[in-house]
Amino acid sequence: MQNNENNNGAMNQKKEENSNSSKEKSAKGVNLNTPGMAKAVSRRILEDIDAYCVEKYNDGYRNHLGASLIGRQCKRYLWYIFRWCFQEQFTGRQLRLFNRGHREEARFIEWLRGAGFEVWEEDPTTNNQFRISAVMGHFGGSLDGIAKLPERYGIKEPVLCEFKTNGTGAGFNKLEKDGMTLAKPQHFCQTSTYGCMPEYNFEYCLYLNINKNDDSLHVELVKLDHNLGRNMLVKAEQIIMSQVAPSRLSDNPTYQECSWCAAKEICHKGALPEKNCRSCKAARPFENAEWYCEVYNGIIPKDFIKLGCDNYFPITNKV
Ligand code: SF4
Ligand code: SF4
Repeated sequence: MQNNENNNGAMNQKKEENSNSSKEKSAKGVNLNTPGMAKAVSRRILEDIDAYCVEKYNDGYRNHLGASLIGRQCKRYLWYIFRWCFQEQFTGRQLRLFNRGHREEARFIEWLRGAGFEVWEEDPTTNNQFRISAVMGHFGGSLDGIAKLPERYGIKEPVLCEFKTNGTGAGFNKLEKDGMTLAKPQHFCQTSTYGCMPEYNFEYCLYLNINKNDDSLHVELVKLDHNLGRNMLVKAEQIIMSQVAPSRLSDNPTYQECSWCAAKEICHKGALPEKNCRSCKAARPFENAEWYCEVYNGIIPKDFIKLGCDNYFPITNKV
């Protein structure tokens, strides 16, 4: 027994020595003074950060069709997204960019409060962001906030807040020149949809858009178009309730919008959608944002939707 203990102690000490010496070796193994080495290590650090960002910020499939997308022209693209036919793959850089957009929201709110505005970011009844929901819970969106202007402006009614970011260049210049309704029609559709909901009924949106390159700030009180908002709700319902792909924008894959569309392989070239219940012909949207399977005659359990079963039949295939 005594011998065993002595042996174990000696072995542990040996292991520790080995591990220390391998640490030393690996610390000494890379000489940053070797020509090109610092650059190579820097590249690797960037790759590691990118990998982290992909892991951390990629939200995967979205459960509902989002109001922020509903202004996109192609209904078929929105239908593919809603039916989980594909997921756009984003690089670490792109995901950092989206994340930066979210993080800017806190700055916008700080500036507005600093200028004397009252700003509500959360619905006090839920302690979550203010939301809209329609089409059995399959369409929705989150409001960036609701604000009341300081008394000195003489405007009593609360306004919807919408916060966006932009790069330098044509997009931001057009926004400054033509205003949000013309330069950012997708944002106008989104905010008009929020505005037309009876629970909010906003007449105006306080739209802030920051230029990420030089921090120029575009501020605009935009009169919302409730008819446009209601049309967006109809559009959302058509997309959500359709069991077949809506018409293409163009049958020509080289048409400008199709040429850079992430869905073009499925849309124009017959590529198969990703397998899951939502991209299966037997599934249809159901109440309370649930999904119903016509083969098993029941609500599909949430965890199962991602998987599909052996009876899977792609919704994009002709019967
Ligand atoms: S490829 Fe063209 S028609 Fe097809 S989903 Fe994309 S934009 Fe729409
Ligand atoms: S048949 Fe299978 S894959 Fe299709 S919806 Fe039903 S459970 Fe999902």
